[in-house]
Amino acid sequence: MCGIVGYIGQNQAYPYLIGGLKKLEYRGYDSAGIALHKTNDLQVVKKTGKVAALEEAFRTKDTQSTLGIGHTRWATHGVPSDENAHPHYSNSGNLALVHNGIIENYASLKEELLQKGYQFKSDTDSEVLLNFIEDIYQNNDCSLEEAIRIALKRVTGAYVILILSIEYPDTLFAARKGSPLVIGIGKGEHFLGSDASPMLEYTKEVVYINDYELAIIKADQLILKNLGNETLTPYVQKLDLELAAIEKGGYEHFMIKEIYEQPQAIFDSLRGRLDPENLSITLSGLDKIKDKLIAARRIIIVACGTSWHAGLLAEYWIEELCRVNVEVEYASEFRYRNPIITSDDVIIAISQSGETADTLVALENAKSKGATIFGIVNVVGSSIARISDAGIYTHAGPEIGVASTKAFSAQLTVLLLFAIKLAEFKQSASEELRKQLTKELSEVPQKVQYILDSTVDGIKDIAKNYQHATDFLFLGRGYNFPIALEGALKLKEISYIHAEGYPAAEMKHGPIALVDDTLPVVFIATKDKVHEKIVSNMQEIKARSGKLISVVTADDQLAMSLSDENIQIPASHEIIAPILATIPLQLLSYYVGIERQIDVDRPRNLAKSVTVE
Ligand code: GLU
Repeated sequence: MCGIVGYIGQNQAYPYLIGGLKKLEYRGYDSAGIALHKTNDLQVVKKTGKVAALEEAFRTKDTQSTLGIGHTRWATHGVPSDENAHPHYSNSGNLALVHNGIIENYASLKEELLQKGYQFKSDTDSEVLLNFIEDIYQNNDCSLEEAIRIALKRVTGAYVILILSIEYPDTLFAARKGSPLVIGIGKGEHFLGSDASPMLEYTKEVVYINDYELAIIKADQLILKNLGNETLTPYVQKLDLELAAIEKGGYEHFMIKEIYEQPQAIFDSLRGRLDPENLSITLSGLDKIKDKLIAARRIIIVACGTSWHAGLLAEYWIEELCRVNVEVEYASEFRYRNPIITSDDVIIAISQSGETADTLVALENAKSKGATIFGIVNVVGSSIARISDAGIYTHAGPEIGVASTKAFSAQLTVLLLFAIKLAEFKQSASEELRKQLTKELSEVPQKVQYILDSTVDGIKDIAKNYQHATDFLFLGRGYNFPIALEGALKLKEISYIHAEGYPAAEMKHGPIALVDDTLPVVFIATKDKVHEKIVSNMQEIKARSGKLISVVTADDQLAMSLSDENIQIPASHEIIAPILATIPLQLLSYYVGIERQIDVDRPRNLAKSVTVE
């Protein structure tokens, strides 16, 4: 949530800052702003709306400066407005700050400052933090660096902050706790970003800043310290990300580009892990905690949103194949309800960004109780990757569209690899079944490509016909139940149509009251062991005049005859089918969103990478 950029060096800061904000806009987009260090002045320009509005506001301004910071906001405290947009000035006007995160004790700090006569122009927690720093700086005989350190020790919550000071024309101050910050090292210049995407075209050498670290950055020097004022050695890493991966490449939106990248994302997630010749699987991440996993009394999967749906499907898979008890938890609930965790538990954390705040804290809690942490994340070097004892990366590549698509199918791919491999360790599923699933998993990229090619035109028509619906119901059973939840979530996010996912049979215990001839009901009804049951559920909806849109196995005449609209996907083992069934539902959400003229890459109120609680 929220994108942050900063620049210090010999070159002009503005082009990097504005370009970087555009690349980070997926993280928040209700307002944006930039502060430039001018001789004896800090020039702040900020605007409600997208980064394009900020760029427009800068057209008439002098942007000359070699030091600056920028922000694209996802509001937590105070409505999206010019006043609440970042950067904020301190009361004296000497400091400017951008902040990503939430200062939880801002109210008491604000009270203290109000009593001292401070005034606030915004409703944000961020402006409070900045004035708190200023107050310490002015009233103690200390450097600004020391004042920042003192303030941060008193702050609770999460932050990345970047600070400029009129007094320090050659220094940029940065600190982090709980939100991500990357510093790119150039030749006599430094680039800062919430992720590495803004700096890709400038440098491949980066330092990921850790929690409780403070960076004092000059054009040609990066000093890293902890909050105890000890100097640390920055760990410089090489980025292996290409610029093309974060550009639209001819597609109209990132979302559709990423939907079409799924054959590759799944293939990349299998590469080097699944050997299609020998039908074997190698997962070095799993080997690391093999004994723990074999002995585990249970596996707890912790995630949020779409990743939680991936976890739910993994529960079905792992229990079936590995015969171990699996629980799936919303990270935000898990972390606050004092769960019973022992050192026999293995926790699987799933997160695209690897920065999801609730998941991260849930893991820290579980780790402190002795549990083993296994991370499944997409962003290399992210916080969750770093606190995990072992893990497997999804190789989906950067996902920019706010609604997760390719990261989800890559998560499913990796989770199924995990389940098959653990079943091999535990000898809990027959070799024949494991080999069959391994073979079918290796064929998923081609099948996904086939689904993309063969279903898109029909789905565009369905989207046109049903775009005016006010509600949708998504129903599935067994392995397809989590896919029904994900289908509903995707449609909500991208079209703003109210949608609910339900286990198909459970629908009789309430949601069936909603069914009439205006309600589209999407069935995920591929051939599996509960197929006859779901066909009965289809009959029940049809008997009440609901409109049936069904994702079915190719040539399933019975299911097709019951449905108003059909989307056929290739036959597969029932364990593989939900991965395939996901694809048409993503296309459906996308095209309904397009019909309704929604900004599908940046739907209202949402943000990618939820780094606040
Ligand atoms: N809490 C701050 C605000 O509401 C920062 C939010 C963000 O991370 O964008 O302005």
